[in-house]
Amino acid sequence: MSDLTHMSIADALKGLESKDFTAVELTQAHIDAMAATKDLNAFVTETPEIALKQAEESDKRREAGKAGALDGIPLAIKDLFCTEGVQTTASSHILEGFIPQYESTVTAKLFADGAVMLGKTSLDEFAMGSGNTHSYFGNVINPWKGSDAKDLVPGGSSGGSAAIVAARGAMGATGTDTGGSIRQPASFCGITGMKPTYGRCSRWGVISFASSLDQPGAFARSVEDCALLLNSMAGHDPKDSTSAQKDVPNFAAAITGDIKDLKIGIPKEYRMDGMPEEIAKLWQQGAEWLKDSGAEIVDVSLPHTKYALATYYIIAPAEASSNLARYDGVRYGQRVEGEDLREMYENTRSQGFGDEVKRRIMIGTYVLSAGYYDAYYIKAQKVRRLISEDFTKAFEQCDALLTPTAPSAAFAIGENEDDPIKMYLNDVFTVPASIAGLPGISVPAGLDSNGLPLGLQVITKAWDEETAFRVGGVIEEKASFTALPQTLSQKAA
Ligand code: GLN
Repeated sequence: MSDLTHMSIADALKGLESKDFTAVELTQAHIDAMAATKDLNAFVTETPEIALKQAEESDKRREAGKAGALDGIPLAIKDLFCTEGVQTTASSHILEGFIPQYESTVTAKLFADGAVMLGKTSLDEFAMGSGNTHSYFGNVINPWKGSDAKDLVPGGSSGGSAAIVAARGAMGATGTDTGGSIRQPASFCGITGMKPTYGRCSRWGVISFASSLDQPGAFARSVEDCALLLNSMAGHDPKDSTSAQKDVPNFAAAITGDIKDLKIGIPKEYRMDGMPEEIAKLWQQGAEWLKDSGAEIVDVSLPHTKYALATYYIIAPAEASSNLARYDGVRYGQRVEGEDLREMYENTRSQGFGDEVKRRIMIGTYVLSAGYYDAYYIKAQKVRRLISEDFTKAFEQCDALLTPTAPSAAFAIGENEDDPIKMYLNDVFTVPASIAGLPGISVPAGLDSNGLPLGLQVITKAWDEETAFRVGGVIEEKASFTALPQTLSQKAA
């Protein structure tokens, strides 16, 4: 039954429909695969009993001719989405043991379409990080190994989701992306990750990091599968006033293979000094694939790119410091007692949060404090506007932008750990689109000389995920990325 874990969601839906296998069999195969990949530490909480129960119900629905769009498909859920009755931690000690009484809108939609939940995946605490090394529940390990066989990070913050989809322990997964947390781990793990337009998916029931940037999205092993997941996840939600009143198009239908009418922009500012030669080459290769498929390649400029990281690392911590004020030991979450109220707050927050979260709270509080607010926070908001306008102008010349997803392949666990700035630099290609609220997809496009996957990113206009899927589909076809993580190919051999 092990090949059940290697198929796409699209094929699994066909197989379920033609009764080649049942949802229970498909789910059991994934539960077995999760057990076989336990050393990756991808999950904070596994929910095999819930999964099997959901799968049984799914089989009954299909029997009755009432199957939903994702009926019987086993998925992993990032542990930032509140799931009713199932522990939800944001990978933080402060939320350990928190059992929500409600379901996030995105997971509710997935379950309404019949999806099966395998468990809750680990992340960087409160989604702050790029390597999944900031989880209270330990590092997640990338199923890919470099030639020196060192343990590598899966990327972050949605590292558990990306790792388990790459390791064939789940057919797809939810993620959230504030500054790159879907696209960068997708690139590091050799899978596809889509962050839609800000407002496309409801944030209701998603634990907040930076509310003006946070956006749920999808991981899968193909562009089409990501489109299928996003179709289920997206849509207006009256419970989230920032979710848009927009119709959700059929994203999968947009993957036509035909990009002849498209202009693809190559932003010159993304040619950073020190970009590894292999990444520059792959980027060039990607442009050639698109050109060969009939698209026109144009050079464009996003002049404020160099300010994007600094802007993000002011706005995101500012919002985080305000959002995380709610963890005070009174309302919910862990409490550590003290002599008086003030000491209880101090004890709770200093023991409940990890170092990176504390760093962000301190930076955020600083940039919001009287005297610095204008110099940092307001300035960053102004630059945010300039960065958005750069994209608006660029999209007068082209329909989509092609860039590398990340400036490196997966790095070793422990690397970059002593230097937060180096860690923040991981987001250099993903953060600008986040700041502007634009959709971005990362598609695996090749391997580096060390045998590690590299992704290419396609960014489009707001609400034009369809073009991102369309261009992503062509990259996927041209790259024909079939490599498997070494940990899996060794087992298969
Ligand atoms: N790596 C970025 C950060 O640490 C992005 C995280 C995210 O998108 N959640 O903030």
